[in-house]
Amino acid sequence: MFVCQNQPCGARWAPDEVEIHNEGQGPLFRCPLCGARNHLQARHGRDGTVTYKQVPREQAVKTPATEVKRAAQPRRRG
Ligand SMILES: [Zn+2]
Repeated sequence: MFVCQNQPCGARWAPDEVEIHNEGQGPLFRCPLCGARNHLQARHGRDGTVTYKQVPREQAVKTPATEVKRAAQPRRRG
């Protein structure tokens, strides 16, 4: 069972309900509901089957996804 890591969404999906593909940074699926990308880890079983395990968001984020806007600094009146 996968859980969408997009906080307000959090939808749950069975592995066969989502489309797993690789955009160059490892396997991931897009949440059918909100479209958020959720990273996965491929596990190769002894019998040749591949199972996917969800990667917690903290580990998956390698590049800053969102820019934190700085609050405007108060200007002093000179
Ligand atoms: Zn979602």
